[in-house]
Amino acid sequence: MADYDYDVLVIGSGPGGYVAAIRAAQLGLKTACVEGRETLGGTCLNVGCIPSKALLHASEYFDAAANGAMAAMGIKVTPELDLGAMQAQRLDAVKGLTGGIEFLFKKNKVEWIKGYAQFKDAHTVEVAGKTVTAKNIVIATGSSVTPLPGVEIDNAGGVIVDSTGALELSSVPRKMVVIGGGVIGLELGSVWRRLGAEVIVVEFLDQLLPGMDGDVRKEAAKIFKKQGMTLKLGTKVTSVTPSGNGANVTVEPAKGGEAEVIEADVVLVSIGRRANTDGLGLDAIGLELNQRGQIETDHDFGTKVDGVWAIGDVIPGPMLAHKAEDEGIAVAENIAGLTGIVNHDIIPGVVYTSPEFAGVGLTEEQARERGAIKVGKFPMLANSRAKTNHEPDGFVKVIADAETDRVLGVWCIATVAGTMIAQAAQAMEFGATSEDIAYTCHAHPTHSEAIKEAAMAVRGKAIHV
Ligand code: FAD
Ligand code: NAD
Repeated sequence: MADYDYDVLVIGSGPGGYVAAIRAAQLGLKTACVEGRETLGGTCLNVGCIPSKALLHASEYFDAAANGAMAAMGIKVTPELDLGAMQAQRLDAVKGLTGGIEFLFKKNKVEWIKGYAQFKDAHTVEVAGKTVTAKNIVIATGSSVTPLPGVEIDNAGGVIVDSTGALELSSVPRKMVVIGGGVIGLELGSVWRRLGAEVIVVEFLDQLLPGMDGDVRKEAAKIFKKQGMTLKLGTKVTSVTPSGNGANVTVEPAKGGEAEVIEADVVLVSIGRRANTDGLGLDAIGLELNQRGQIETDHDFGTKVDGVWAIGDVIPGPMLAHKAEDEGIAVAENIAGLTGIVNHDIIPGVVYTSPEFAGVGLTEEQARERGAIKVGKFPMLANSRAKTNHEPDGFVKVIADAETDRVLGVWCIATVAGTMIAQAAQAMEFGATSEDIAYTCHAHPTHSEAIKEAAMAVRGKAIHV
């Protein structure tokens, strides 16, 4: 039998890769993780989930002080923005968490090999001129921004930027055009709107947030408009050209019509992300990509090539950190000969704006296509805690099978929807019916009671409406 340097070599240290490496080491496998960045943690910790949440959290405080929300509770303040300090706390958050992964690697005896890995054969990669062999290699190389044809991103220039550039702006734009009304556009658009920018979101489709429940998407448009964003739905961008200190964005109706030029000082391109496979040397191992440029795997996260596995954003499915993490645990367990499973039907998704938008399972549209359903809805306006906190926007929707009452999907718009959705995911994982949720005692007064009431409404029996 061949003698390998490692039992497991993970390529990429994002939430998929670092979790896979730690779990593999915990299971007694000799493990290393290759990472090309200066710090561990991948997109999520360095330029994704964490820094965006650091700015969302801070800008929410600023907005509450500036927009009268604090005054409504008897706190009179006139906020003054210190963007340098706000950015410094973002960098602190990133430093603390990426350093934390380095600590966890040392604690669990995962070796960090610095550099970019390229396959030579199914058990051998080259990193920074060195050859490394492993019995199992896990590809966890993640994703990067999908470019808009003809538009050149220049994050350092600070005018035409992607999400990384939009996190790092050193002044608040006067006018920001966001191309793409998906998760990144709405989260980062919210940050800069709260800090004083005029934000115009250009979305190709007729509604924001593709993939979410139809009612949620409609409500999202109302809420973001109310907050002062301009939404240009059903609109496509035909060109972005630098002009003076800013850029001119030409847009026209997606179905054809008159063009319009919008002047902006910052343009955020956020039209999706694509799998990172360039330079990996997949040809050397005969691993082909699917039509979307992703690596296909079986249920165990094994690829078509023996000993090569793949997880996270580089494989199909929602590009979410928690999905990558769960796949990281599962792949390590499968490599160790255990049974690692991820239930891809129950992966919650959250947009961390204010309010938050969250969902798990099927949308109402998807559920109706599959058969007869019952739907219960409950407005946050009727939830005592939300009402007391001056947080009237949103609702909870529970979708259940008409015959079995089994919960098929739950959707929430609420200030803490991201936290609320965990109970829905767990209930669905346990195969709950709407009746199970309706008869579960929920603490009062909490936003989560809205989930119980929506579940009661599935059978026409909510109390507070
Ligand atoms: P990644 O995190 O992309 O990590 C892959 C790593 O592999 C990178 O560090 C890369 O340098 C490295 N790499 C690539 N090729 C090689 C190579 N050949 N050799 C060595 N190393 C290599 N998701 C959420 O769930 N919640 C959020 O709030 C959220 N917010 C986000 C905000 C933004 C602005 C962005 C851009 C994304 C956000 N995401 C969020 C998505 C989330 O970041 C990704 O789904 C997640 O990071 C995917 O994890 P991963 O491990 O598959 O890959
Ligand atoms: P997205 O897929 O969420 O949204 C992209 C939007 O751009 C879509 O609405 C699409 O219709 C639109 N679009 C595409 N081409 C366009 C064009 N030419 N003109 C106008 N609109 C166009 O992608 P994203 O916002 O870039 O985010 C990428 C990924 O990162 C997502 O898959 C998401 O899961 C992940 N992410 C997650 C979170 C979170 O979980 N909170 C936060 C940020 C990013």
